[in-house]
Amino acid sequence: MCGIFGVRGHPDATHLAQLGLYSLQHRGQESVGVVVVEADGTPHLLRSMGTMDEEMSVRLSKRPGKMAVGHTRYSTAGSSTIENAQPVLARSRGGYIALAHNGNIVNAAELRMELEDKGAIFSSTMDSEVIVHRMAHSTAARPEERLAEALQGVDGAYSLVISVGDTLLAARDPRGWRPLVLGRLNGCAVLASETCALDIVGAKVEREIAPGEVFAVDADGERSLFPFERKDRKQCVFEYVYFARPDSRVFGGSVDRARRSLGRRLAVEHPAPSAELVFSVPDSSNSAALGFAEQSGLPYELALIRNHYVGRTFIQPTQAGRDAKVKVKYNAVREVIEGKSVVMVDDSIVRGTTTRGLVAMVRNAGAREVHLRISSPPVTGPCYYGIDTPNREELIAANNTLPEIAKSLGVDTLGYMSLEGMLGAVPDGPHGFCHACFSGDYPTPPPIDPDKLRFGCGC
Ligand code: 5GP
Ligand code: SF4
Ligand code: MG
Repeated sequence: MCGIFGVRGHPDATHLAQLGLYSLQHRGQESVGVVVVEADGTPHLLRSMGTMDEEMSVRLSKRPGKMAVGHTRYSTAGSSTIENAQPVLARSRGGYIALAHNGNIVNAAELRMELEDKGAIFSSTMDSEVIVHRMAHSTAARPEERLAEALQGVDGAYSLVISVGDTLLAARDPRGWRPLVLGRLNGCAVLASETCALDIVGAKVEREIAPGEVFAVDADGERSLFPFERKDRKQCVFEYVYFARPDSRVFGGSVDRARRSLGRRLAVEHPAPSAELVFSVPDSSNSAALGFAEQSGLPYELALIRNHYVGRTFIQPTQAGRDAKVKVKYNAVREVIEGKSVVMVDDSIVRGTTTRGLVAMVRNAGAREVHLRISSPPVTGPCYYGIDTPNREELIAANNTLPEIAKSLGVDTLGYMSLEGMLGAVPDGPHGFCHACFSGDYPTPPPIDPDKLRFGCGC
């Protein structure tokens, strides 16, 4: 997964991008990048592995610009290189193209082979680069027409922010898989994955970029095209469940409200009558646990404390190391837990590794009973549309029955939200959402070679 940001026509564009990317940091911590376009049109690409840190901020402060395109990239196994950091910057007939992409193009491998057959040379292994090449091939007059042409035949998930010459472009795939919102600051267009990035720069939320829309803003004003065949909406429900920040609105709905509603419904579907208190696994399930507490009448406690200063470099391949990883990130508050029957609410279980470590920690802190409640259904399949879930073999719920999972995690009871419950709880549900990783109902044909199809930006 990734976070994307763009602004045009603001004298402080670089600084705004820096702030916006801070707010989108949760969407990706593998690398961060900004293309700053100076008043004379000269672009500068600044990329760095990791997050928007001190060094990157200092580098950006020396590069003022009037347009900026920014990106935070999510961690994927194996392909963590600076070449794969975005934005992609390339020179074309129409001027420099800087592209930031959130999503995954499912037919990227085929499109790439097609281009390579025609002699194209790629500088990264990202699916996103395919779009840049296809734009460069287009002879259409306007930048938005070139983008529309480039995206014909591109299947999968894409929210894009692109600068071409003096034009800032945005696009969302026809199914609207990933969020993208348009804001306004002193008359300037600001684009971001989530509204929290508009809040931080003081931009007013104007509207979502619509599924299938190609949007352009430049000296000639603002224009929108809807060049694609209409498709049913397939907004990623996992954005509401786990990915987006609770202070954001995505797909036109509040993430906080969605999670509270998920938590309330979870308490109805899977009550824990013998429990004395409820707590979250911070931070991703805080809002859902609040909803659970509200509905069940149980007190909401802070039983797990998360260390926010743990870097991403703490990698231990051994089992002892994995337990240590949980301990480095979380600790239990014995005074809250000891002797109690507790409800632990989390948003999802993927491999089960973290959860197992947390349950053991809660038991070591003296919990009498542990009732685990999950505000989404079992994850039974990988995501091909932008979230880096592992292969099926590693998904605990793809290979075990519910009692087996409960046993393996060491909990007294386990309750997962039903698919209908989840879809009924999110704003504007139950229709218009992708839920493939939970239901197996994939909106695109099943990928032939998942590894190949996921060679891309993996975001
Ligand atoms: P597990 O027990 O499966 O190892 O980890 C479950 C935890 O991972 C949950 O707290 C959930 O919030 C979190 N989680 C769910 N999806 C993702 C993801 O795509 N990336 C990361 N880093 N964590 C995730
Ligand atoms: Fe979201 Fe799951 Fe669909 Fe991927 S498969 S887009 S994570 S709902
Ligand atoms: Mg979590």
